[in-house]
Amino acid sequence: MIKVAKFGGSSLADAGQFQKVKAIVEADPSRRFVVASACGKSSPSDHKVTDLLYLCQAHLRYGVSYEPIFKEIETKYYAIKEALHLSLDLDAEFARIRKMMNKDVSTDLLVSRGEYLTSRLLAEYLDFDFLDAADVLAFHYDGTIDYERTASQLSSRTGERGVVIPGFYGALPNGAIRVFSRGGSDVSGAVIANVVNADVYENWTDVPGFLVTDPRIVKDPMPIKRINYSELRAMSYMGANVLHDDAVFPVRSKNIPINIRSTNDPDAPGTMILSDCSEMDAMDPPPIITGITGRKNFTALTLTCSHASALPGYLRQILEVFEEFKVSVESVPMTVDTISVIVSSDAVSENLYDIVNQLREKIKPDSLKIEENLAMIAIVGRAIQEKPGMSGRLLSEFGRNQINIKVISQSADELCVTVGVNNRDFEKAVRCIYEKFIAEESKGAEG
Ligand code: ASP
Repeated sequence: MIKVAKFGGSSLADAGQFQKVKAIVEADPSRRFVVASACGKSSPSDHKVTDLLYLCQAHLRYGVSYEPIFKEIETKYYAIKEALHLSLDLDAEFARIRKMMNKDVSTDLLVSRGEYLTSRLLAEYLDFDFLDAADVLAFHYDGTIDYERTASQLSSRTGERGVVIPGFYGALPNGAIRVFSRGGSDVSGAVIANVVNADVYENWTDVPGFLVTDPRIVKDPMPIKRINYSELRAMSYMGANVLHDDAVFPVRSKNIPINIRSTNDPDAPGTMILSDCSEMDAMDPPPIITGITGRKNFTALTLTCSHASALPGYLRQILEVFEEFKVSVESVPMTVDTISVIVSSDAVSENLYDIVNQLREKIKPDSLKIEENLAMIAIVGRAIQEKPGMSGRLLSEFGRNQINIKVISQSADELCVTVGVNNRDFEKAVRCIYEKFIAEESKGAEG
């Protein structure tokens, strides 16, 4: 059994968190590959090391002293080293970084130092080997991962002992450091899980798993026990945020489950993300709704054109206009002669009227209506398809709560029902679906 355990910044924010990480790693000898983020915030007023490093880089660029910011980074690492009685020569490490900063350091190299230092300290504390991501994680020049080289570099450097590998960065073929986008240690962990053919990729964070809905809208929502990759994609696309989007592909391609766990509550099982949940669902049936998510600020452009449905290519011509303006389309609900195209309001903020003019010119609709301030809510659940009457129950719940539905759509795989409501009804709608379909049903299941 091989587990890759990635610990996020909040799991490594201070010495106390390092202790929790050690207990987690030591509790299971199969956790042999540890991937670490840079130290995160240890309190709400604290700063993430990566944010501070980006700030140092900005100060360098404008020729302003970065000293007070750099000091803050040093203080954080010295505090961890001292509290845990470690021997890493931080004086030498920081001297090296300062030297780089005086010599036109690249942004990627500088901001990667948070993961580098955190991993050096963690490796010593765990008594694991430190493996620099620059020697392991290989990028092609176009920024994609070179899996072959990563696999061979890693296997030539590992034996029986556990290793700590910094997340977030790797090296280009010429050796230059390259980082992923923010939150990219999730991707590093997924790539390592792929190349070592892990049995599970554990992603340790500060929440007890992937939550059913946004905790800013519903107080203490339940964690999701199991979710499949398609559901996860639908949830992330519509705004739920636990895992970096690019972290899914490397593990999905090898059917490696992801287990989201909380460092602050290590006994909780967290969320299992699987390619196929059906085997486990057969033993432990899932709730009808896996998750509720959504975003505000969409715009609907509704075209009515009599006999449109009989005109081949009509839909393509409409969508081409959006393509020309490089606007991606979120949803296209349609009835006989009416088509609504829903797009994010941000995406058309600069060119809405040019798009409208083009549509008028090319399509010559009988009418074209614009409606702004729409919120789209995605109600996601692999079990929805087994429940006839589910959409009816959803709609009547909206009706009972006096929430006007502007748009509704569902694809034939029945994985996700998308409902468009006015922005001002967004939170209320999420809460009422949670109450009815999650809270009440779970009480029912218990009772
Ligand atoms: N430290 C990096 C960031 O804050 C990468 C990560 O933590 O995943 O974005």
